[in-house]
Amino acid sequence: MFLVRLLYASKASADFNFSQIDSILESAVKNNIKNEITGMLSINHKFFLQCLEGERSKVNQTFQKIAVDSRHTDVTILHYDSIDTREFSDWSMGFSSQKGAHQGINLKHSVSSIFNPFEMSGASCYALLLELSKAISSE
Ligand code: FAD
Repeated sequence: MFLVRLLYASKASADFNFSQIDSILESAVKNNIKNEITGMLSINHKFFLQCLEGERSKVNQTFQKIAVDSRHTDVTILHYDSIDTREFSDWSMGFSSQKGAHQGINLKHSVSSIFNPFEMSGASCYALLLELSKAISSE
């Protein structure tokens, strides 16, 4: 049994409506608690960036379900590795909806204050999620 971390980015489907996020988070929290998966999801109206941590087969199975979800497209793995410890152990799925207060954090980790994980390296995306998780914990 190995712990792994998977990081991916995706684009919201053309017909994606922000109100669908509640149903996504509901499924994520329900399933992730059951599967002991932890992580973080950041979104704006165009892009998703998600980190999943947990037992390798459970992370892989969860990602396979997520990858075929019609609510997003262009699902692109940015990073996958074995890990010794979790970074998001407090979150069955931490959630950050991009807002004005996060622009400084985006700018710190990317070329623009506008959230676009497709213009960022995997390492920068991971660092961004870590910092967003700290920011929302203290809000
Ligand atoms: P349920 O939880 O019973 O489904 C819940 C609701 O979601 C139902 O109302 C159903 O109609 C709706 N739904 C399910 N699949 C779709 C779909 N393809 N298109 C439109 N509506 C749908 N799942 C996780 O388990 N963990 C995660 O961390 C996670 N993160 C996600 C991140 C993103 C960006 C997206 C788009 C989806 C994510 N999901 C996650 C959801 C995942 O894709 C599956 O929908 C979910 O795992 C199915 O769970 P379930 O079989 O228990 O269905």
